[in-house]
Amino acid sequence: MDCSQPPGRRWRRIAMSRLSFQLSSGHRRWAIGMGLYWNVEDWSVIWAPIWIPNPTPGGGGGLSTLELHNVLNTRLRAQTAEAIRNLSQKCKTALAEAGVDLGTVATIAASTTYYRVEFEGHYQVREISGYVNPLHPNQNLKQYLGSARAATLPNAAGTGAANYVVIGSAFFTQTVFGADLATSQNRTLIHEALHTGTGLNDVDLAIRLGLGKLPQYAASVAISSWLAYDCPSPQ
Ligand SMILES: [Zn+2]
Repeated sequence: MDCSQPPGRRWRRIAMSRLSFQLSSGHRRWAIGMGLYWNVEDWSVIWAPIWIPNPTPGGGGGLSTLELHNVLNTRLRAQTAEAIRNLSQKCKTALAEAGVDLGTVATIAASTTYYRVEFEGHYQVREISGYVNPLHPNQNLKQYLGSARAATLPNAAGTGAANYVVIGSAFFTQTVFGADLATSQNRTLIHEALHTGTGLNDVDLAIRLGLGKLPQYAASVAISSWLAYDCPSPQ
């Protein structure tokens, strides 16, 4: 029972900051800190101040991280399946011609594990996919993702993609690959499903799609643009 929910009624508190101030006056106590809230309608996540009378020690309240993880995974697997089904015939043909079997991509995507960076970003990449970046062995999911909307983790050997996808907050808020947020999300999910389904990283996936041999970032942008422009045949 906290007295300072963010505006709107459909927020659930996921966590409370470890740093909070405790106030007391006689037998009454309050904690003032920051709460992490999840909006059950549009999936945005925000930090907002919270003011809790009679706090129980360590009590974050709201959904547990595991519950939220499971809700996220159920939803994103369903959305990915739908996005693959609804790909244009032109894209389906172009992918088949590039040797990408969409049936396999869909099957693998049905068991992809998604991590939401706001509350799972502290996991280390090596804890999840087994990949140890030689330059940054303790790299966590948040650091791996950087400012991207989503990223597929490398496999343990670092030779390609594993079946783990990190989702950033921009995925839920920014429209970049299409007319609306849902279209943008679907293209991102397909981009990641092409990694998980083929095991190819950005550089190798761009080559497979006929987009050329590009450095990692350029390859990633080229793949997303190719999807956004309805999978044109390479010149
Ligand atoms: Zn990519």
